[in-house]
Amino acid sequence: MKITAVHEDVIPISSAMSNAFIDFSTMDSSVVAVVSDVVRDGEPVVGYGFNSNGRYSAGEILRRRMVPRLLAADPASLLAADGQLDPSRAWDVLMRNEKPGGHGERSIAVGVLDMALFDLASKIAGQPLYRWLSDRYGDGSAPDESVFVYAAGGYYAPGKGLRELQDEMRGFLDQGYRVVKMKIGGVSLADDIRRVEAVLDVLGGDGSRLAVDVNGKFDLHTALEYGRALEPYGLFWYEEAGDPLDYRLNATLAEHYRGPIATGENLFSMQDARNLVRYGGMRPDRDYIQVDPALSYGLVEYLRVQRMLREHGWSSRRCIPHGGHQFSLHIAAALKLGGNESYPGEFQPTGGFADDAVVRDGYVELTETPGIGLERKAAFYEVLRKLHD
Ligand code: MG
Repeated sequence: MKITAVHEDVIPISSAMSNAFIDFSTMDSSVVAVVSDVVRDGEPVVGYGFNSNGRYSAGEILRRRMVPRLLAADPASLLAADGQLDPSRAWDVLMRNEKPGGHGERSIAVGVLDMALFDLASKIAGQPLYRWLSDRYGDGSAPDESVFVYAAGGYYAPGKGLRELQDEMRGFLDQGYRVVKMKIGGVSLADDIRRVEAVLDVLGGDGSRLAVDVNGKFDLHTALEYGRALEPYGLFWYEEAGDPLDYRLNATLAEHYRGPIATGENLFSMQDARNLVRYGGMRPDRDYIQVDPALSYGLVEYLRVQRMLREHGWSSRRCIPHGGHQFSLHIAAALKLGGNESYPGEFQPTGGFADDAVVRDGYVELTETPGIGLERKAAFYEVLRKLHD
């Protein structure tokens, strides 16, 4: 088995919305197609990858460093003992001559290719990624057949008032979600509390079905002030209150805020996640870790994150990755995570699950399409095919 070509491009995934920190008017994503010499039904088997959302494309790093290294590698050096593609060996090739630390956008470039390599390996094996992954890296029992998903929305947008916010949340419930998430921190505390209470009205007053997300905006004082105001609502979680690398802020918040805290979507390596666990005051009995495999050196690194968490006494069920994409959905099912984010209708064409995926009572089922199944997102597949057709 040989990689014969790697094609790379950048596509827009822009939208008019914003959180407390950024707007998404210029958001884009790297997409890659890794073409193999394995032929099925008269066509080469191709693996696809993209870089989730929230961070921009990493085309320059892909073109100048990662793709040339992959193409220059001895094909045999990418294979496992059984002669099949081993994404973890390819990962070592991508990271050759890269110093540790200072992850920057490099983790995104590697993540895009890692996704495509896992897509390719499981397609060649004729298995959906979650089954392929469960067979090789699972706990020995069958993978989860469905995954908890929550609907992430509640962004700030021009002309969006309380009524529009409530309509959006009602729409999520109509689509089958039970837990929803909204942004906070972009207006005053008093205005945010009005927004939170408006959404709670839609949820029948049940705070355990509402998560709030600050996107790292608050200083310690504001994080604690919001924490005091939010705690009585008994929320599903209070997300990324302060800067993602300010572990002491997180630890101090965890000492004062009794409800669940979630963070980690802007930590891009096992070492950063380990620092969060060591120094961030995260509580394994209630808090959530949101590392997004696509943004953080891919699944090879995410398996290291899972190993580290186990060694620190954490259950994989405390992980609910950021990103709302199919790659993490497979990973969640295979590694028995707590669930996966979902952005209904946002970050198109890359975001979301199969076109015919149905959310029932907050859970979504996997498909049996070999690989990640991006072929079952018609608009996205059209873009991906163009990379190599
Ligand atoms: Mg977030």
